Amino acid sequence: MIQKKIQWPNGAQCACAITFDMDADSLIHISKPKDSHRRLYPISMGQYGPHCGIPRILDTYKRLGLKQSFFIPGWCIDQYPETVENIIAGGHEIGHHGYLHEDPTAHSHDEQIEWFDKAMETHNRIVGKSPRGYRAPVYNITQGVIDLLIEKNFKYDSSLMGDDIPYVLNTANGTLMEIPVHWGTDDWPPFAHYEEIGYMMPVKAPSVGLQGFWEEFDAQYEAGGLWHAIWHPFLTGRLARWQQVECWLEDTLTNKNVWFASLEEITAHVRAVQKQKPGAIREDQLPYYESPPRQWS
Ligand SMILES: [Zn+2]
Repeated sequence: MIQKKIQWPNGAQCACAITFDMDADSLIHISKPKDSHRRLYPISMGQYGPHCGIPRILDTYKRLGLKQSFFIPGWCIDQYPETVENIIAGGHEIGHHGYLHEDPTAHSHDEQIEWFDKAMETHNRIVGKSPRGYRAPVYNITQGVIDLLIEKNFKYDSSLMGDDIPYVLNTANGTLMEIPVHWGTDDWPPFAHYEEIGYMMPVKAPSVGLQGFWEEFDAQYEAGGLWHAIWHPFLTGRLARWQQVECWLEDTLTNKNVWFASLEEITAHVRAVQKQKPGAIREDQLPYYESPPRQWS
C-alpha cells in the first residue's frame, strides 16, 4: 500500500524513470586531488561511462523511444562535450550534479555556492539552458542547497529518501518537488568496487545484482507507484549488465502498462495533480531541524 497514491498519465499502472549519473572520472579527481592525474586505472574506469556506456544506453533508448534524465557534474560536461551533445540530441534531460562531484556537507555554504554556480555556468554554456532538476553528489543535500535550488528556480530535487513516490518540499521561500531515490535501486552497492574512495564490495553477477532492481519494480508496479533507478554508465552501462537491462526493458514495455518519463516530466505531472486536487500530494515543511536535536543523556 502507498499513501496518497498518484494517478499517472493515460491510466498507466506505474511511473518509471531510469536516471544515469555520469560521474566519469570526477570521482577520482575530487577524492585524490593531489595525484589523481597519475591514477590511470580509476580514470579509465570512469571514462568508460562517456566513451562506452552512454553510446550503448542512448542506442537502446533511441530504439525503444525512451526519453530519460541524466545527471552530470559540470566538469564532466566540459570534459566530454560530444557525449553531452549526443544525450541532448536524443531528447534527454540533463540535471545539475555539482561541479566536480563535491559533497555539499564537506564544504562551507560559500564554497558550495561557488561550486554550484560554476556548474550552472557550464550548463548554460554547453547544454544551452539552466537545469531544472538537481541530484546532490552522494545524495548529500543540505538545507543550504535546497534554498539555493529554490532561489535559482529549480523545479525538483532527487536526493532524498522519504517516500516511495514524489512529494513536495515547502520552505519559507518557495517550493520544490522531491523525486525520491533509495539504495535499493542504486547500482553502486551491487556493482561498484572502488578501493581509492574506500568502497570495497564483492561485485555481483549481472543477473544477481539486477534482480534486486526488478523486485523493486514488481512492488512498485503492484502498488501503482514510481520505479526509479539511479544508475551509473560505468557500472550498469557495462556490456553484460546492459544486455540484461535491454531485455527487461523490451519485455516491460511490451507486457506492462508503464509510463517511462524524465524526472522533469514526472515533476510537471505531479504538480498538475497537486494543483487540481489540493492535499492530494504529500507536503513536507523544511527545514526539518534548525540545529542538532537535543541530547537526552
Ligand atoms: Zn554522482
